[in-house]
Amino acid sequence: MALINKDFRFEQKRERHPALRWSVFAVASVVIGVVIAKTSSTPSQTADALPSFQPVEPSRDEIARLSFELTLPELQAKQEILDTINHENSKQWRELTVKSGDSLSRLFSRAKLTQQQLNEVMESGDAAKKLTKIFPKDVVRILTDEEGTIQALRYEIDTESYLLVEREYGELAAKEHKHAIETRTAHAEGTIESSLFLAANDAGISENIIMELAGIFGWDVDFALDIRKGDSFKVLYEEIYRNGEKVKDGDIIAAEFINDGDAYLAVRYTNPETGRTEYYNPEGKSLRKEFLRTPVNFTRISSRFTTKRYHPVLHKFRSHKGVDYAAKRGTPIRAAGDGKVIFKGKKGGYGKVVILQHGSKYTTVYAHLNSYNKKLRVGKKVKQGQTIAYVGSSGLATGPHLHYEFRVNGVHRNPLTVRLPSSQPVPKRYMADFQLTTSPVLAQLDLLSSDTQVALAETE
Ligand SMILES: [Zn+2]
Repeated sequence: MALINKDFRFEQKRERHPALRWSVFAVASVVIGVVIAKTSSTPSQTADALPSFQPVEPSRDEIARLSFELTLPELQAKQEILDTINHENSKQWRELTVKSGDSLSRLFSRAKLTQQQLNEVMESGDAAKKLTKIFPKDVVRILTDEEGTIQALRYEIDTESYLLVEREYGELAAKEHKHAIETRTAHAEGTIESSLFLAANDAGISENIIMELAGIFGWDVDFALDIRKGDSFKVLYEEIYRNGEKVKDGDIIAAEFINDGDAYLAVRYTNPETGRTEYYNPEGKSLRKEFLRTPVNFTRISSRFTTKRYHPVLHKFRSHKGVDYAAKRGTPIRAAGDGKVIFKGKKGGYGKVVILQHGSKYTTVYAHLNSYNKKLRVGKKVKQGQTIAYVGSSGLATGPHLHYEFRVNGVHRNPLTVRLPSSQPVPKRYMADFQLTTSPVLAQLDLLSSDTQVALAETE
């Protein structure tokens, strides 16, 4: 009869609010109505007995009477309700949410858990070490019994796995478990009326997939400027399901983008040797474009990439987020990769500058130029290796050199060491494998459009 005890304890706390107390009781009554159907006078007795209240349990006689008067199915139903509620009450999962700057020990102490309890968890096995890598907003769930002893702890490590620490034979034991993860294929298609984002939104695809789509085709199509009304896309992508519920989108498997009448196809393929996954066209050519490591024939590197250096002209310490290649005035400077001119002109201490955009992620900057290639225009495409300008010393420069910057998603990276995107085609020896694995996917993508055409034909 633990249930009745608990409910009356609750009532006692609320004694100064009779109305609330009664409503609480009314709610409780619905649940335990079966039990107290024959003892409904109890509440008023309770009220009279206050404040020196003692929990009232039905007497042995009452229980006997109840048992006698209730039919067997009623008794079973009563027991089920009691079992459920007792179970919920005796076990208490607490959710501890990790805050910025939290360590596990800080999280525990905020939750009034002791160092000893923490030690016990940490000594419960190797899997428990995952708890040393908690991140803000992570949730650690802890189950304690009535004495406050930790019975279990659960922590979602990532989408695929979780940590479960459970008390077995008196000792906590940690184990990493795998969720049932399933990858399903989804598809979407759309035609652009005003923007890619709106079209993608109408097609029901997430922002992540749109960004991925723009990233894949961004080497050939400028999604900010080249998009035309009537451009269309089709995309096959993965959806990740955990225990039967969708948790997130996976990667794009294959996609087609039609821009101004030109069709671009991309299919995902993992090189069996390197394990590297890239997007290729159906002929096995990478959709990424190559970069030259060095855009100029230089005599020496006069200044390297650093976050702090003494500036010889400004006479103060400042970072140098590029590489200086000393070269004779007038030495041709080549475009590091296929791309588009997004800036040509003067920029303060940089002097004459050219900035190229390559795909959606990369930009290269060429500064202190003597002069530009006369044919160079902002918005025009350039080919890798094409001469874009000539070495000079415009702006703040001690002598003729090219100041070269390489930016990934707007962040300066060291041009000498940055991992440049590979543009290698599928190696010849893997072409058979490539065709075998990608042709069903491409056929599936193709089928999407024929479905659409059928659908259109039917509606006409
Ligand atoms: Zn420089």
